[in-house]
Amino acid sequence: ARILLVGAGGIGCELLKNLVLSGFDRITVLDLDSIDVSNLNRQFLFRKEHVKQAKAVVARRSALQFNPAVTIDAVQADIFDRRYDLAFFRQFDLVLNALDNAAARSHVNLMCLAADRPLIESGTAGYMGQMSVHWRGHTPCYDCDVRTAQKTFPICTIRSTPTLPIHCIVWAKSFLLPQLFGIIDDAADDAALQTEATADNQDEVQRLRAETAAMHALRRDTDVPDFPDRVWRKIFVADVAALGALDSLWKDRAPPRVLDADALLADAAAPRDPASLAWNNQVWTPAEAVLAFRTSLRRLGARYAQGRAAAADFAIEFDKDDEDTLDFVAACAYLRSLVYGIPVQSRFKVKEDAGNIIPAIATTNAVVAGLIVLAAFRLLATPRDAVTRETTKGAFILHNNPARAIQSSRAIPPNPACVLCHSAYATLAMDAATTFRDVVAVCQRPRAQHGVGLRGTLEIEEAGRLLYDVDFDDALDKTLVEMNVAPGQMLAVTNVIDED
Ligand SMILES: [Zn+2]
Repeated sequence: ARILLVGAGGIGCELLKNLVLSGFDRITVLDLDSIDVSNLNRQFLFRKEHVKQAKAVVARRSALQFNPAVTIDAVQADIFDRRYDLAFFRQFDLVLNALDNAAARSHVNLMCLAADRPLIESGTAGYMGQMSVHWRGHTPCYDCDVRTAQKTFPICTIRSTPTLPIHCIVWAKSFLLPQLFGIIDDAADDAALQTEATADNQDEVQRLRAETAAMHALRRDTDVPDFPDRVWRKIFVADVAALGALDSLWKDRAPPRVLDADALLADAAAPRDPASLAWNNQVWTPAEAVLAFRTSLRRLGARYAQGRAAAADFAIEFDKDDEDTLDFVAACAYLRSLVYGIPVQSRFKVKEDAGNIIPAIATTNAVVAGLIVLAAFRLLATPRDAVTRETTKGAFILHNNPARAIQSSRAIPPNPACVLCHSAYATLAMDAATTFRDVVAVCQRPRAQHGVGLRGTLEIEEAGRLLYDVDFDDALDKTLVEMNVAPGQMLAVTNVIDED
């Protein structure tokens, strides 16, 4: 069987090794990236001397050492490239995705649907991992389910009643930092707050509005010597006292407590060196958090004042690799945790959470790669008319269930509302003279006459670029070549049927 492996990263390296050791002898591996030193801890086909070389090329060379008898084509390229058209995908019996981003996954999903090739999709996040099979007509496609956006928290939880460390981190990163140094969109903030307003929380919403307005006054002089103290007095004294006075909020939980910087600084131990590993990896003392707060506020305040002098729209955004913004978020989250009696976390942990960093774990990748090969055997050994739910079942790893770490996933039918896997895919021959009128004719011709059988008004797009709709019908006589459409590309034709 001919296999296309898209991605030679964490899962891809494991998978390529498994494939050559288990009898697959014609493999094309495609990856755009070059090897980075940070890949070496888990992408075991790469060694230190390979850094900066193409992943696909080195992966091929290393895999051939396991089994020199196989044929591997290595391609350093972008899977979105027009060269990788339907004819390219149709060369393969099976496509394996080992990708790290949703856009590329969706693209390969679409190409496999159009080329009618089975796809095995995979991914890992820390100790969790999964593998799923996608085959048109038999299973849901990769995009049948609309994936939910990143988890968000209610504004009132973040701003008034946090209960978890992550609430304090989100407050520091997404509320406080933009309020002091970022771009403010009062109208949007207010509208978002309004969505949570109820008859019972009028006081709280009113107070949050006043709190925001007072915050803006602090932005005017961020490079004055007492700027850190001004911010402290506002966010850890005045705001906390005002919030604590709203009795209705504290019937079922402990009220927040005002922080006294001098009392926190009286801590006996001498602060550690901010350049040391311990400063980053171990939980700070309260005194260290106060020092980190003051230092980061002073630095960010100076940067902001300087930036604003040069450009009125200057803003500082959170970046986990910007030490000042990371110190700011870590210190403010720590101190806010003290206010609410929430456990405090190390700067390192805050960096992970604030930067949405999920550790990549070699063992998880290896288990998923093994599951993919088992699924590949099942798929390739089954004739298409004998495919059952058993053939196409996926699997996932849940580390919180020690009794059964690997579980197979429930087989479900395709989502009937998904336009991707319920579209008709037709191949159209074209030459230099082919016009959009010809495309429309094929689309409107009944299926019995080898057309697509679409009714209603048609609209034609290529990768989001509108090429034809009813409003510019002079486009009908343009040729495809004229509009920069080349053989092998995919046109999306949508029909609009008038309600009456
Ligand atoms: Zn679908």
